[in-house]
Amino acid sequence: MKVLVAEKCGFCPGVRNAINLAEKTLEQEKEVSSLGHIIHNEDVVSQLSEDGLKTIDSIDAVESGTVLIRSHGATQDELDKINLKGLKIVDATCVLVKRVQKIARQLHEEGYKVVIIGDKNHPEIKAVVGFSQDVEVVATPEDLDKLSKNSKLGVICQTTQSLGHFAEMIAAIAERGFSEMKIINTLCRETMERQTAAVKLCRQVDIMFVLGGLHSANTRKLAELCKKHNLQTYHLQNWNELDTTLLCGKVTAGVTAGASTPDAVIEEFVYNLERY
Ligand code: SF4
Repeated sequence: MKVLVAEKCGFCPGVRNAINLAEKTLEQEKEVSSLGHIIHNEDVVSQLSEDGLKTIDSIDAVESGTVLIRSHGATQDELDKINLKGLKIVDATCVLVKRVQKIARQLHEEGYKVVIIGDKNHPEIKAVVGFSQDVEVVATPEDLDKLSKNSKLGVICQTTQSLGHFAEMIAAIAERGFSEMKIINTLCRETMERQTAAVKLCRQVDIMFVLGGLHSANTRKLAELCKKHNLQTYHLQNWNELDTTLLCGKVTAGVTAGASTPDAVIEEFVYNLERY
């Protein structure tokens, strides 16, 4: 089978940095816990767990050692609790996620009602909400009903949303006639480049595979976008999940992967697909 791989896919600098920091910390410290999964990829999480990294859901579950803050960051409340317990912190929060937190705080200080376009249940958004006061999270145009018409809005976006959705939401906000809007583009360039490359590729192939964790927001977004342009799009975690009957009658396959998908997973998938 002919296989084409997206020009840009797989690990982003933020994820690479988080994994490097986790590995380095495990070499240096005896007891290391990660607050939530260090990245949204089961293969990486289980490898680091074999090396000794413990994943905890809450700070209440740890009394000693070092706490690693994942690439999506932690809330102010969580950081305060870690400090109160006297635990050591190794911060692997991506610089772009920190930028969103900083901008949200600044907008609030400047008197804007902070509106963040994104998924309220995603850890990155929970961290931003915890860092600034009075933030409203909106996912769809209907959510804008929550905002007061007289609000002076400071609008930002979850790093991994698509440019198309950001633009659509900005248009929907503008149509509602708010008195003032300050818009700051907080989308991650790495994510946008992966999305552009994936859309370009999925238009050229008979079947498209998006590799990555099922909980990874950027992988899910990639799959959603590809599906819009190629109905034969499948989101899988690795080669073992592929039902090969899907390949019947197909000549060319495309492969892309989210920002938390290791190179080894992509390489194994492409290798097997080429030989199918
Ligand atoms: S996808 Fe972007 S924001 Fe998220 S960790 Fe990677 S570089 Fe940072």
